[in-house]
Amino acid sequence: MLAKPDYLNELINSGDFLTLSRDNEWHLEASEFTLVNGTRVTVHDTGVIEFQPQGTTTKDVVLSSAVHGNETAPIEICDELIKTIIKGELALNQRVLFIFGNPKSINIGLRFVEENLNRLFNGHHTVEGVPMNDERKRAANLEEYVTDFFARGEQGSARYHYDLHTAIRGSKNEKFAVYPYLHGKPWKKSQLQFLLSCGVNTVLMMKSPATTFSYYSSFVHGADSFTVELGQVKPFGENDMVRFAKTKQTLTALISQKEVQYPQFNASDFELFAVHRTINRTQQDFSFPFSDDAENFTGFAKGELLATDGDTPYYADVEGEAIIFPNAHVALGQRALLTVIPMQVDSNFV
Ligand SMILES: [Zn+2]
Repeated sequence: MLAKPDYLNELINSGDFLTLSRDNEWHLEASEFTLVNGTRVTVHDTGVIEFQPQGTTTKDVVLSSAVHGNETAPIEICDELIKTIIKGELALNQRVLFIFGNPKSINIGLRFVEENLNRLFNGHHTVEGVPMNDERKRAANLEEYVTDFFARGEQGSARYHYDLHTAIRGSKNEKFAVYPYLHGKPWKKSQLQFLLSCGVNTVLMMKSPATTFSYYSSFVHGADSFTVELGQVKPFGENDMVRFAKTKQTLTALISQKEVQYPQFNASDFELFAVHRTINRTQQDFSFPFSDDAENFTGFAKGELLATDGDTPYYADVEGEAIIFPNAHVALGQRALLTVIPMQVDSNFV
């Protein structure tokens, strides 16, 4: 039995786990309580809260947001879901672990405090010769909470992790998801159907391991896991939540229903892209020929300049090569640009 911390009554009454997490930026005393409907609630740490409904479950669902603290819309979605669950307005039929990744970075309204959390997963938090910082410790702890959550699931439960973000810049395809590298395992049409139901019809297939939270859950825990970009970054309260209604409805159905039926798969509903290449910034003098507000998925003609790294120019080497996540200001040695090319649903999908 865990102790009863001072915050408990307030949390039970308000359901406001987000404010509690923001008031305790790096650590929060663990606690447990049970809702009237029998759902067991466990606060593991700041930003980490688990709900275990009574009875048999078939899905273990991790919903993370605030891995980048200024990406507010998904934080608002998860905040509302948590409140409705704690207040007993939404009854669960599946286990769910909510994670607000980086509460301190929410408070300062920035992507991160010292280091980009989403570059630290899958063990990259602990590197010999690199001093630990709060974000590295947080990444290590979050991996442990996810490991523990999946390990306590029922035998044969399906594992899911949706890591919810909003992009820094606009996108020709406002919402899109990143499907982590599966090491040769097939991509799942059922997951594309889930994403479409969330309002996401654009999916980017990665071709190599990554340091992201979603790759970690996919690779280490065999979860169906995605980084989901839900639109452009806006300050708290300025998000047009109507644009996120489908996402919230679909997540609500996922955790509250025993089984969710999605419409029949239709390949023409989707725009799929495969990663073509990564361009790293290796020189102080690094630039893009396009303007700072160039949208994700902007395509280039073969032979057009994509980036200049010191004396090295990079040209589009495929017609329609499109840019994703351009950021000329990343630390030296990190990814400044990802490029992608269109692909079709084929025999690698089940
Ligand atoms: Zn993000």
